[in-house]
Amino acid sequence: MTVASRKIRLLMELRAGGVIDTRVLSAIELTPREQFVEQNFLDQAYDNNALPIGCGQTISQPLVVGLMTQALQLGDRMKVLEIGTGSGYQTAILAKLARRVYTIERHRPLLKQAEARFLELRLHNITSLCADGFKGWPEQAPFDRIILTAAPFDVPKTLLDQLDVGGILVAPLGDENGEQHLVKYTRTEQDFEIESLFGVRFVPLLPGVPDAK
Ligand code: SAH
Repeated sequence: MTVASRKIRLLMELRAGGVIDTRVLSAIELTPREQFVEQNFLDQAYDNNALPIGCGQTISQPLVVGLMTQALQLGDRMKVLEIGTGSGYQTAILAKLARRVYTIERHRPLLKQAEARFLELRLHNITSLCADGFKGWPEQAPFDRIILTAAPFDVPKTLLDQLDVGGILVAPLGDENGEQHLVKYTRTEQDFEIESLFGVRFVPLLPGVPDAK
């Protein structure tokens, strides 16, 4: 199977799985996932699976990337905060649909690799930071959209505070039974509307920045 036909198969799977927003589908189509996976997983770059990326982390499953991106309802004037850059794959897709993406990763080696990919792909509207995402990015707040690609038990209040009124935050949330759900918060004038979307499986959101190895 050629890369092109694997890609078409994947896009069909995403559509069947509920990704129907054509802007999201074309952002996925235009983002070469093979550049975000490790050499030894190249043949699986267009399979609908999460794959290991080093530092014990994973590049998210394409269907989940599609559904989360769709849930964000992005507009091309928006400023987005992403917690958990990982491979940078989700970041690259956000960068195609929003004005500017701020992304935070706690593992420096992963962030360095992701930054090299952004340069290679000429994605110049991404700003990245090696830090603890629990703190968000107060200097750049408020954000129109916030996405977490690692799962906390509760959405940190610091992040909700950095969401603009009318803004949307999407995050996988873990519960005491080890289950995770994708949750969508919409900020209203007074409060937040909270909607639970579907079951997911993400690596945990961990505090602090690991020591450089
Ligand atoms: N969207 C990424 C998913 C990577 S997995 C991709 O598709 O490649 C989630 C990432 O969140 C991991 O790289 C992990 O190191 C990072 N992470 C976990 N807790 C974090 C925190 N507190 N701050 C920043 N990044 C964090």
